[in-house]
Amino acid sequence: MTICPLCNGLRAFHFFCPRCQTEMEDQGKVTDYFDDYSPYMEIDVMKQVDGYPMTRRNHECVHLFSCPYCQNEEVRFIKE
Ligand SMILES: [Zn+2]
Ligand SMILES: [Zn+2]
Repeated sequence: MTICPLCNGLRAFHFFCPRCQTEMEDQGKVTDYFDDYSPYMEIDVMKQVDGYPMTRRNHECVHLFSCPYCQNEEVRFIKE
């Protein structure tokens, strides 16, 4: 079983907002996020997640980052 370093707090991941260069905050795994909120999410966003068929095969954990400054949201693949 693979372990995501971010989910398990093994490693900090610093990612900066491409729009304003503010350090973005890890919102956790996208999959967890959608388990909780999927009934309320927009279809476009769900499609976006479904558009990543490689992640399971590559053992990558998909994290959602949000910028506290400009509310930009970015999805990043974390190698497990
Ligand atoms: Zn993770
Ligand atoms: Zn930003």
